[in-house]
Order: sequence, then C-alpha cells, then structure tokens
Amino acid sequence: MKILILNAGSSSLKFGIFDMDRDDRRVFKGEFERFGPSGCTLHVRAGGEQAEDQQRPDGAANVSDAIARMPAVLSEFGFTDFQAVGHRVAHGGDRFEEAALIDDAVLEHIRACTPLAPLHNPANLEAITMARTLWPALPQVAVFDTAFHHTIPVRAHTYAVPREWRERGLRRYGFHGTSHKYVALKAAQALRSSVTDLQIISCHLGNGASVCAINRGFSVDTTMGMTALEGLVMGTRSGDVDPGIFAFLHRELGMTAEEVEHSLYTDSGLKALAGSADMRDIEMAAAGGDRTAQQAIGIYAYRVRKYIGAYMAAMGGVDAIVFTGGIGENSASMRRRICDKFEYVGLHLDDDRNEAINLSHGAAPQIQSFESRVKVIVTGANEQLMIAQEVRHLLQERAVAPAPGAWHIPVSVSARHVHLSEPALTALFGPGYDLTKMRDLSQPEAWAANETVDVVGPKGSIGNVRVLGPLRDRTQIEVSMTDTFTLGVEAPVRPSGKLDKTPVIKLRGPAGNLDTDGLIVAARHIHMSPVDAEHMGLKDGQYVNMRLDEGRGETIFANTLVRVKEGFVTEMHIDTNEANAAGISLKTDGELIQGETTKKFGFVGRRNLELAE
Ligand code: ADP
Repeated sequence: MKILILNAGSSSLKFGIFDMDRDDRRVFKGEFERFGPSGCTLHVRAGGEQAEDQQRPDGAANVSDAIARMPAVLSEFGFTDFQAVGHRVAHGGDRFEEAALIDDAVLEHIRACTPLAPLHNPANLEAITMARTLWPALPQVAVFDTAFHHTIPVRAHTYAVPREWRERGLRRYGFHGTSHKYVALKAAQALRSSVTDLQIISCHLGNGASVCAINRGFSVDTTMGMTALEGLVMGTRSGDVDPGIFAFLHRELGMTAEEVEHSLYTDSGLKALAGSADMRDIEMAAAGGDRTAQQAIGIYAYRVRKYIGAYMAAMGGVDAIVFTGGIGENSASMRRRICDKFEYVGLHLDDDRNEAINLSHGAAPQIQSFESRVKVIVTGANEQLMIAQEVRHLLQERAVAPAPGAWHIPVSVSARHVHLSEPALTALFGPGYDLTKMRDLSQPEAWAANETVDVVGPKGSIGNVRVLGPLRDRTQIEVSMTDTFTLGVEAPVRPSGKLDKTPVIKLRGPAGNLDTDGLIVAARHIHMSPVDAEHMGLKDGQYVNMRLDEGRGETIFANTLVRVKEGFVTEMHIDTNEANAAGISLKTDGELIQGETTKKFGFVGRRNLELAE
C-alpha cells in the first residue's frame, strides 16, 4: 500500500508518499513553499535520502491550488497510484482521541475546532476538502496533533479559570503529538526497551517547540496549551507569559486582542529577543560577541531546562530525554546548555558523541556518557512517517471483519486486597508464619487468606484488608481510587506487577508494621485463556472496550487490558469504584464490543506500531 501524506500550513504544503510494502519508506517528498499571489516555490525529491532535491517556481498561490496541481506533479515522477491519503490536522479538540476516517461528520467536527486553532485548522480543512474532490474514491484519514495528549490527566490539563470558560473548551490540549509519539517510540527502540516501561521527556525544538512528559507510553503533560502559544520560547512565538499582560497592553498601549495575539504569534520569541527567528543566525551572532544573541540563547535553554525539571517532578523520574526538531537535532551547544545542569540527577553528556551525531537513515544515537543514568537520544522528527503508520493502522483495523456472534465475559468485582512477599509476611505476622487459606478464588492457584492487615496512610487508615495467597516476589496493595483519598496518598493506575516507583504505604499486622512500596489502583483487566483469546481474536497486552448492561443500565468500560496466559480463566476484573459506577452488585457478564478494540489512544499493545524508515 502507498499512502500520500499532506501537511498543509498557512504558507506552505508539505507532502510525501510512503510505500508501506517497502519498509514504510518515503519514496517521494515535496513542498510548495511560501504561497503568494504570484505563486510559490516547489521542492521535490523522488527516491530515497540520497536523491537530489529539485526546486522550481510554481504557480500555486494557496493550498487548494497546490493540491489541484499535485496529480500532474506526482505523475511527472511516475507516482500515479496510492491507496489512501493521510492529513495532518492541528486541532482535534477533546473529540478526537485518535486518527479518524474522514466523512462529512468528521469534517464538521474539525471545522468546529477552528476557533481553537484559527491559524492552522483552516489550512487543514482546505486541504481535506480539495483532496476529497480530487480523490473521492480513496479513504482519507485525519491524524491530529492533539490526539496523543488525550491521556494528560485533569490536574495537568485544567486551567484554574471560571467554569463557564472551561465549558467553552479552555484547557490544555497540547500539540506536536505525532512527533512526540514518534520520537518516544524511536527512543524506546534505541534503548531496546518497551516504551511502556520508560519515562521519557521529549523535546521537539523546531520553529514551533514543545516538551512532553511521556510516562510509560502515555503523554501526561506538555508545554503547549489550548493553543500552540504556551510553553517554550519559539522562533516567533512567545511561549509562557503572564496572562496579566493582556489587560496591561490594552490599557497602556491601547492594543486590541487581535493585535496582542498577532504579536505573540509572529513578533515574539527568538525574533523579538535577538532579531532573528533562526537559531543558526543567533548562534553565529552570539559566537561573535553579540550580547542580545547570547541572552536569547540563555533564555531559550533555561525555559527548556525548567520544563525538563518540571516533568521529572511530574513523573517522579526520567529514563531518557529525547531531542528532535531543527534545533534539537542540529545544535550540539543547545543540547549541552540544556543538559549541563542535570548532573545531580545522574545525567552526563558525552561531548564527543554530542558533537558527532549523524541522523541519516533514521538513526537515533545516544549521547550520554558511559556512567550516565539518564539516557539522552537525538533523532529526526518524522511526523509524516508516523501519520502514514497511523493511517495504515486505522485502515487495517477497519478491514478486520469482526468475529461473528457476541462474546460475553464474566465480570468479577475485586475488593481492596494485599499480596505479600515473604519478608513482608514475616514483618507483619512474625517469623515462620504461614498464611492460611479461607477460600479459593476463580483464577487457579489464587486464594483468599484468613489473614488481614491494616493499611495506614497519612490521612486515614483502612482496617482488615484481605491478604491473598500465595506469596509473591513483591508486596502489592490494590485499593480503589476512593481508598487513596481515605489514605491520603496518590496511587497510580497500574497493571498488576508493574510496581516500580509506586508510593510507600504502611501496613500494620499483628506482629509489627511495615513501610512498603507497591500501592496501586489496579487497571481494569480481563484474565483470558489462550484458547478464548484465539476465538475472540485478541492478544495479550491489547486494550478492548467492554459493555456492561446491569444495574444502572449500559456502561462502557473503555481501555480494558487483556492479559492472556496459560492457566487463566477468562474473567474481567473491575474494582469497587467501577462496579459502583455501573451499579453492579455481584457477578455479571460483560460484552466485548466488536471492532472497537482501539478506542482510546496510547502506545500499549494495540498501538505497538513498528518503526521503520
Ligand atoms: P519546523 O518547526 O518549521 O519544522 P525545524 O524543525 O526545521 O522547523 O526547525 C527550525 C529551527 O532549527 C530554526 O530555528 C533553525 O535555525 C534551527 N536549526 C536548523 N539547523 C540548525 C543548526 N545547524 N544549528 C542550530 N539551529 C539549527
């Protein structure tokens, strides 16, 4: 399959063709650059990285013009067939959590997001409309810059402003999502690890710039906000400013809202600080002794460093920092400035590696020194490839015929409980103590013990929490979200067994107390036998949507993790909060929602996209 990718901006249209049957290779690349009344410049490169760029004047004066001329340009280079079109779309609001197959309704929703991205969405809409006219028979897919950030929790995406404003859509959405996702996957690949096991801070430093905290595969915070203005110092955009300046500028300088907005987008950032939006010019001027250029570099690096520090705090750690975008990829001195102050967290750059990187053929070199705990990776931004992979993924998923019939899965409610390690058992119940079985549980070899412990937090304690046997390698305390407020401790939602960097809590037993980590809110999941998984067409690690129709009527549990293992009895586990929300008292059945196994966005399982250049 070949996929045409279109990335329309206000003054340019970038495009590429990817051959998904040849290692996802980009076989054609082009850009209509700087639209104006008399036309633009067309750059094209047919073939791989080694091929020559060609450049010529072109008559296209805007995005629609450029797309209308595209069939001629493509056939000139022998590209007459492609099977799908992927569109980069800036803002999907809170509606689009993942890529969407474009139809009239989707188009309307994108249009409805225009007030949130007045500079970007109109160009995207123009491109989509023209491309649908030109290629009506081809599937067209919108891939949103905001979608990856849908997992940012409320505490990080909420602005503390009046409720009516928030109801109008004021919140952090974040951008560059496709790029952050791509480089996080590249970094995980470079580290021979799974992105779901890593805490990554990704720095996309181009003309637009943002930093993103990616906790085990999910975006949990990013510097851009409701619009692409917030956060870092950019080429011509201000990044963070005090919202109080609006009223000041209006009162003191008589500026209108439009004037302020325009200046913050186009006359601010590096351009305002150093007279050029181009970091190459600024670095050159700074090296020549220009004081304002030197200061601009300092301000730029400081802002990035500040956010990296903030995101270490947000995630409670970092395994890898990734640099991409024109500045992130090319400026060794900027990387150095940003990283130098992090030696106290165990980040040490290797100067030779930092200065000698080669990013050709999709390389993602590591530039930390041998003893550095935190890894630092540099890699090229490749949003178009990521978009092509999203398009393929969506089309393949649609092509899978749902297995006939409805699949019903028993649902069981897990009350709070504790799994103990051997040393924990000794500390709580005394040396030589053995747990005693009260009753078997539905999963083989799992049983409830007669023993209970108290779980004690800084705010309150929960008594008589059931211990489950047999003993495990690590102690794990599973509570509900409500319980975390009773205890006064914040606990992450995790699959069982994923316990690194979990909070410490006190357990009280008859023979003593124990402070241990391992406090989690268990992610809802389905234990599944390999045979059932095969029948239902599901894989270990996949996330599915389940419909429960009980008590309060229909409740959909999205993002339910499927865990397939020999010996498992097929059964969905939800906790008491979830059961209460759905009005379920005892056992019930849930129905697997067919063909909708990828509802929500993330990396895990279903988003396990292969990366290839
Ligand atoms: P966009 O966000 O428009 O895709 P890029 O990712 O190409 O932009 O980044 C453009 C920025 O990268 C510019 O500030 C440019 O000066 C900077 N840049 C490119 N090459 C270098 C270099 N060798 N050294 C420093 N900065 C560079």
